[in-house]
Amino acid sequence: MSDPQFFRFLTYIDETVAAEVQAAGCPYCGGALHQANYPRKPRGCPGAFRVEYSTRLSFCCHQCRRRTTSRSVRFLGRRVWLGWVVVLGSTRVGERTPAASALCEALSIPWRTLARWRRWWREGFAQSAVWQVLGARFLPPVAVVRLPAGLLERIPGQGQAPLLALLTWLWPLTVTAPEGR
Ligand SMILES: [Zn+2]
Repeated sequence: MSDPQFFRFLTYIDETVAAEVQAAGCPYCGGALHQANYPRKPRGCPGAFRVEYSTRLSFCCHQCRRRTTSRSVRFLGRRVWLGWVVVLGSTRVGERTPAASALCEALSIPWRTLARWRRWWREGFAQSAVWQVLGARFLPPVAVVRLPAGLLERIPGQGQAPLLALLTWLWPLTVTAPEGR
């Protein structure tokens, strides 16, 4: 999972969405949005992309000073691990597929982190409005205990297409959590 095209494409999506958000102006007062990015030290990021992935795009209103953070396919809320790692790393739990195990070992993801993600998929995510809508699209239903592996394997597409689709579906969850370290 170090395909440069994939990482570049995620940045492209984030930047495109951020540009749209900025062009729309402040959702609270309509004022102009100025860039006010958050610094990040992402984990699970290939070395070549460290600089590119060290900022979470965000804006501050010139008028009312309120912050607007655009959705992201790269960062999943406040987590230091990038979204793709949270998804693919989590497929290891309970499933222990060779690919997921190799990923967890290669990135040295601590076991307690994986356990926390597992809880999040089964509790936080499973109770989110996103899952209520998304889960209803699959028949037979995807079992919550098999999230996210059970979900990924049901999304059609080759290569990284299912992962990308899932990251896009998780979008609303990337801006609900307070930002920061
Ligand atoms: Zn404003």
